[in-house]
Amino acid sequence: MVVCPQADCGSSNVAALPHYWESLPAESPLKAKYAPPAGGAASYWASLAVVVLGIVTVASGAVGLGLAVMVAGAVWGAFLFRKSAKATALLDQWRGSHVCLACTRRF
Ligand SMILES: [Zn+2]
Repeated sequence: MVVCPQADCGSSNVAALPHYWESLPAESPLKAKYAPPAGGAASYWASLAVVVLGIVTVASGAVGLGLAVMVAGAVWGAFLFRKSAKATALLDQWRGSHVCLACTRRF
């Protein structure tokens, strides 16, 4: 059984955070407080389009400029990927969280 880790609490009146959040009415002020972290679905299409633009630029003869555009697109794509991975990790953490219904501590 899960109990609250708060030293002066130790209550067993604990709920899984996603379940608790879903059970809250939409007008509850706690709905925003316990909401899952945003993000995750990053769009790679824009960064991919930049890479393609770079390839087209290379093909048209402006090799230096085209390579620079390709590198910029690739770096941007890598940045989006890292951001998305971080958002996914935060969401996983949220899914595994509990909330104490006695002292409202999240753990
Ligand atoms: Zn507690």
